[in-house]
Amino acid sequence: MINEKGSFVISLDFELSWGVRDMYRLEEYKDNLIGARSAIPLILKIFDTYNVHATWATVGLLFFENYHEMMKSLPEKKPLYADELLSPYFTIQEIGSDEREDPLHYALSLIKLIASYPNQEIGTHTFSHYYCLEKGQDLTAFRNDLEAALQVAKQNDLSITSFVFPKNQVNEDYLTVCRELGITAYRGNIPHWIYQKRNGKKGEFVKKVFRFLDSYISISSHNCYSTNGTLSSIPYNLPASRFLRPSSSGLKLLESLRLHRITSSLTYAARKGLVYHLWWHPHNFGSNIQENIDFLQKIFDHYATLHMHYGMESLNMKEAAQKLARDTEFRAVNNSFKR
Ligand SMILES: [Zn+2]
Repeated sequence: MINEKGSFVISLDFELSWGVRDMYRLEEYKDNLIGARSAIPLILKIFDTYNVHATWATVGLLFFENYHEMMKSLPEKKPLYADELLSPYFTIQEIGSDEREDPLHYALSLIKLIASYPNQEIGTHTFSHYYCLEKGQDLTAFRNDLEAALQVAKQNDLSITSFVFPKNQVNEDYLTVCRELGITAYRGNIPHWIYQKRNGKKGEFVKKVFRFLDSYISISSHNCYSTNGTLSSIPYNLPASRFLRPSSSGLKLLESLRLHRITSSLTYAARKGLVYHLWWHPHNFGSNIQENIDFLQKIFDHYATLHMHYGMESLNMKEAAQKLARDTEFRAVNNSFKR
């Protein structure tokens, strides 16, 4: 019997300003981004307390000591998005010279802190927060981008195997390149239509409203999945089950619905031996930091009970991929015996 234990997978998209530059004006969102820097050590601490494993899918541009180092390491072919605003390269000369001067564009000290904690995996969120479904970019630019991300990680003694598509723009045609470059796991989207991604903003508003509602009441169901079955080609797809929305103080009833939506799915996964994959960005915790940490603690208290009763285990994406590989091998051997 395999897969009798449920898995609780967590991934965080660590991007600071690089992930939001085309969505918000810096002034609008600055407090959240600065707050993310304070939230990260607290998140790591609570992960450690509950022995929670997680993947931090980190934007490559955050890895640099200074502007000079960054400029030396930019990919040769850059994406030429039809919408120029999407590219960070046209305005990159506006950033500060290092992490002390510009803590929203550099984060090497935090990356080192994360990597120093047990069971925390540094993954990649591409080098430049690269949009894989946007018009104008192509496979060569994507390959160059991913190579640059893996290279700067390697310079910091980190070997990366987990990948998260920026804006969840999953492009299946790019998975072969991911595999060639050593990626073994990526985070796919929830199969429900409200989570399907296209380029641009068309149809996004309606989906956004439904996604918001889905955080409180079940629209897309539990989104838990088995590691048995069709998910067995490298890189393994570890679809998201739920986005952890930031706390909204004052809305107590909504907060309890939001918690129940997550804990009930976790229970379902634990009982059925399925995977539940929760994700968010550190900057989602950037304001109301304590409320967000307290909310996370409630989720982890629930997980601790499930761990005790059902043996549910916490895995980062790399570990989940390794488990999948073992299970796939087990099935292959089993099938060959049956034949
Ligand atoms: Zn992102």
